[in-house]
Amino acid sequence: MVAHGENEQEARRTERRTERRTERREERWEERRAELVKKGVPAGYRPWLHLLLPSLVALVTLVVAIGQIHDLRAVDLWTIPITYIAGLGFEWRVHKDVLHRRLPLLSELYERHERTHHVIYTASDMTMRSQQEWMLVLMPWFAIVLIIGMLLPVVAFVTWVANRTCAMLSLCTSVLFFLQYEWMHLAYHLPAEHPVAKLWLIRVLGALHTSHHDPRNMKRWNFNVTIPLFDVLHGTLNRQALRSVRPAKPQGPAESAQ
Ligand SMILES: [Zn+2]
Ligand SMILES: [Zn+2]
Repeated sequence: MVAHGENEQEARRTERRTERRTERREERWEERRAELVKKGVPAGYRPWLHLLLPSLVALVTLVVAIGQIHDLRAVDLWTIPITYIAGLGFEWRVHKDVLHRRLPLLSELYERHERTHHVIYTASDMTMRSQQEWMLVLMPWFAIVLIIGMLLPVVAFVTWVANRTCAMLSLCTSVLFFLQYEWMHLAYHLPAEHPVAKLWLIRVLGALHTSHHDPRNMKRWNFNVTIPLFDVLHGTLNRQALRSVRPAKPQGPAESAQ
């Protein structure tokens, strides 16, 4: 009986020691995380400005581009799905070979993505703590300007091989694709109780992105952040991630204990 009581006491002591070690580890990580966030977010950062400025650039581009569309034929509308699919391919390739690889001239993107975004947000802790952290999830505000600049030769090419209407439809689709990427990525990193995070599509696609945030997976699986078409085509879709789609309602203590 005495030995049994001593064993129980020893087990409880071990349990408390383990709990304290876990707490200390979590505290250390929170301190390190706070340092990384402080380093990554400039003083005076305005999150809503960061979110809305690219949307404004996109809106102006859409208005200008739509104003250039004349004599729209049904066949021209094929430009929209073709551009959208090309956008998914571009997203897959850039995420895999630019954001997760240190390349000359583009190493800043690697630092920002793999060495900062992936360090702060891991599969077990994907949630932004405040709007200040939008800085660590969204692309720099001027990225949309660079992308539109990159698209100008594409616009010229499509005008040459097809017509101006197709070129403008392609530009509009590309700009909207970029915004879709930004907003969806931000949604995956929202707290679970946020109404947007509870949407079925965000929970399903967010589970794929969460799996990509596991350091063991980030260079191998789920490079599409929006629709995982090219992950399917390239065999990089980690379907197991879909088993961990989070429930729409965060579980209460009684339910989660079951
Ligand atoms: Zn992410
Ligand atoms: Zn990544």
